[in-house]
Amino acid sequence: MTTCLNYIQGQWKESQTGDVKEIYNPTNGTVLGKVQQSSKEDVDEAVAAASEAKRAWRKLSGAARGQYLFKAADILESRIDDIAKTMTEEMGKTLPEAKGETARGVAILRYYAGEGMRKTGDVIPATDSEALMYTTRTPLGTVGIITPWNFPVAIPIWKMAPALIYGNTVVIKPATETAITGTKVVECFYEAGIPEGVINMVTGAGSVVGERIVEHPSIAGITFTGSDKTGKRIGQTALTRGAKYQLEMGGKNPTIVASDADLDKAVAGTVSGAFKSTGQKCTATSRVIVHQDIKDQFVDKLLSAMEEIKIGDGLQEGIWMGPCASEGQMNTVLDYIDIGKKEGAKLIHGGNRLSDGALGQGYFVEPTIFDEVTSNMKIAQEEIFGPVIAIMTFCEIEEAFELANDTDYGLSASIYTEKIGGMLKFVEDVDAGLVRINAETAGVELQAPFGGMKQSSSHSREQGEAAKEFFTSIKTVFVKG
Ligand code: NAD
Repeated sequence: MTTCLNYIQGQWKESQTGDVKEIYNPTNGTVLGKVQQSSKEDVDEAVAAASEAKRAWRKLSGAARGQYLFKAADILESRIDDIAKTMTEEMGKTLPEAKGETARGVAILRYYAGEGMRKTGDVIPATDSEALMYTTRTPLGTVGIITPWNFPVAIPIWKMAPALIYGNTVVIKPATETAITGTKVVECFYEAGIPEGVINMVTGAGSVVGERIVEHPSIAGITFTGSDKTGKRIGQTALTRGAKYQLEMGGKNPTIVASDADLDKAVAGTVSGAFKSTGQKCTATSRVIVHQDIKDQFVDKLLSAMEEIKIGDGLQEGIWMGPCASEGQMNTVLDYIDIGKKEGAKLIHGGNRLSDGALGQGYFVEPTIFDEVTSNMKIAQEEIFGPVIAIMTFCEIEEAFELANDTDYGLSASIYTEKIGGMLKFVEDVDAGLVRINAETAGVELQAPFGGMKQSSSHSREQGEAAKEFFTSIKTVFVKG
């Protein structure tokens, strides 16, 4: 059985605690391996290594740093099958989705490898005609990276790749649930020959390893993706000690289906947006706001589409939806289903744990649809992070926009309509960082900025060129001959 090690100063090593934690397969409850249950002292060692490495790393040219990323991309690409299988086993998403995510990791690495050759500043006319004024970018130093379990390849890479290319060294703590996948990602950098101390990985509890990363005085910036509860806590600590921070958190993403929508497209987008990855995407569709005139037709089509969803072990061919990623996650989903029933929402599909045969050994929940949901209900307000959607109706399009915005979150939102006027008004009025027209709420392109509004984010953006804003500081330079 695999026992994963921490990676500190170019060495794979056990935690100073000697403790390990077992990782379970949510499909059948079997033990997949063990990971280090590290201490604050392990983090301190990793931060010391990253601090020592930062001078030499930032002195390399962007092109030279990019070469390591290109090599890591090639290694990751050659291991897509193995890493995707590990991901499916650790958190349950289907193998095709896991392969797609790993391939995306490869593309992100190549994108940022190329970024090492692109411009880092501007020349700005000085008021003194004999002076040269320009901006340049400087790395933050050592950054702390804390990631969730739902995209265990893509999220660590979309944080590590820009951190590295802009000249920072890294201490990463992957989510414990998917730490074996996280370790396999870091191995790609190790085998690419990344210099000692440039990347360090420490696994363990968020309350120990995560907190120490956030508190550590030598960590100049913290980039976090996860729940808003953890994010807010991280933000407060970082603010108190003056560290730069970036938080990407939850969502309660709406899809509006207008009266003129292409209903087949809207149904397909709703099913995919809500139930792929068992609804465990931060951009998953969780509220569907449908025009009252076409609601019955939409619901009929949606219910027949549900018949096609094959649930089971994500490693098996033809399986469309896997289990919840853990027992805790499954219980949260089942609790929200109970809450929805008690609040008076009408359960029209699913609602139960699947316990027949082999499914009973895993954490499977039926894809679940509530109709007649009102905006004041908890299931319309709180992130469930599972295969559950809430259907609401509207009469005038402005009412749909109000419902879409009536939440603390603002990550992603979509509308199905053929009317250009409705599309443009939606783009203008909706409070969401990602706005999609005639497309599902889930779907992020690595070359474009990604992040949320309101409680979904600390208002910075990740990915694409936007990553530069977090991982560097601007220096304005004035040169007089
Ligand atoms: P989580 O907040 O429980 O954990 C995220 C990470 O934070 C883990 O590595 C965890 O160990 C660590 N952590 C926990 N407590 C900590 C503490 N006190 N200090 C420092 N680190 C700590 O989230 P999760 O359950 O792993 O992920 C699901 C959440 O992530 C959902 O809310 C989802 O919407 C969100 N998410 C957001 C995005 C986005 O880009 N907006 C993407 C994916 C997931």
